[in-house]
Amino acid sequence: MKVILIGPPGSGKGTQAMMLKERYGAAHISSGEVLRREAARGSELGSRIAVFMARGEIGPVELITEAILTHIDEQAPSGFILDGFPRTLYQAEELGKRHDIDAAIFIDVPETVIVDRILGRRTCGGCGAIFHVRTNPPAREGVCDICGAPLTVRGDDNEETVMNRIRVYKDETVPLLDFYGAAGLLRTVDGNGGADEILSRIEAALPRA
Ligand code: AMP
Repeated sequence: MKVILIGPPGSGKGTQAMMLKERYGAAHISSGEVLRREAARGSELGSRIAVFMARGEIGPVELITEAILTHIDEQAPSGFILDGFPRTLYQAEELGKRHDIDAAIFIDVPETVIVDRILGRRTCGGCGAIFHVRTNPPAREGVCDICGAPLTVRGDDNEETVMNRIRVYKDETVPLLDFYGAAGLLRTVDGNGGADEILSRIEAALPRA
């Protein structure tokens, strides 16, 4: 299975990718996680991109594309669920040179919902699990249900950066809908509602093996 999840920030791509991973055993690659780890390691790439991530911008697209494609080659050459990549037409074209994609799932959520989801989001620093203070709180406040590590607010999950991320999404990522639509690979899924409900819709949209 080579599947891409497309959607605005806060549409639930990460949550759904994790659920799909658990269900199908497919590798989940989150470009945001890969880049956050690089930034935390202080590698040359990480230091360069940290400033763009803090602003919700794309940054040096060729460098990032190469880093993510290399990560895919190393971690999941034969199947993956991609979350956050590709994010631009250039990235989609480069990915297409190396991989035949089975489906691009667009998780469709209105802007009012995504801002609330992002501002209430809590992310596990250990395993990357995602919670929400109101709609999906952990059993113990501030502690991950899955691995017990502390939950944090991502540095870019604040009101100012969110608006910039939404703008970047509209300018850079929305064109991918036409790109994958023209290729006959786009499946649009209603992203409103609970995580289990949305998962069922995605499963119904996945190509049959
Ligand atoms: P995300 O975890 O998908 O919300 O991504 C967080 C931030 O990482 C984004 O706002 C970008 O700054 C950066 N980022 C993630 N994926 C990509 C990508 N495919 N290309 C460029 N930057 C990315």
